Amino acid sequence: MSQDCIFCKIVRGEIPCKKVYEDDEILAFHDIRPAAPVHFLIIPKQHIESLATADMSHQAVLGRMLAKAGELAVSQGLTDGFRTIVNTGRVGCQEVYHLHIHILGGPNPLGPMLAH
Ligand code: AMP
Ligand code: ZN
Repeated sequence: MSQDCIFCKIVRGEIPCKKVYEDDEILAFHDIRPAAPVHFLIIPKQHIESLATADMSHQAVLGRMLAKAGELAVSQGLTDGFRTIVNTGRVGCQEVYHLHIHILGGPNPLGPMLAH
């Protein structure tokens, strides 16, 4: 846990979230600034900064996040596909340094992967 980390505060219940799913290891909640009709985040409850600092000790929780993604996407109505994004570090334009998977989708195709 990191005292100042906004997502750790969400895990501790100090900041509210619109919860999609929670278990002992992971939490999923809607993004506060949705970039698509459906946009939620899956995070590990333990504080891992990013994929740049993750290692094999995080294998189980990272696998759990991805393994749940499809089920959670369908639970939010994304029955015809979705996009999965993990921004990492300065070049990846990561804003919150608590690892998270973005799940994005809606009724229409999302368009090209990167804005040019
Ligand atoms: P990233 O740029 O990949 O680090 O994405 C961070 C995401 O966290 C952004 O899409 C923000 O809109 C989202 N975010 C920041 N604060 C909150 C919050 N309190 N609740 C939900 N989502 C948040
Ligand atoms: Zn954190």
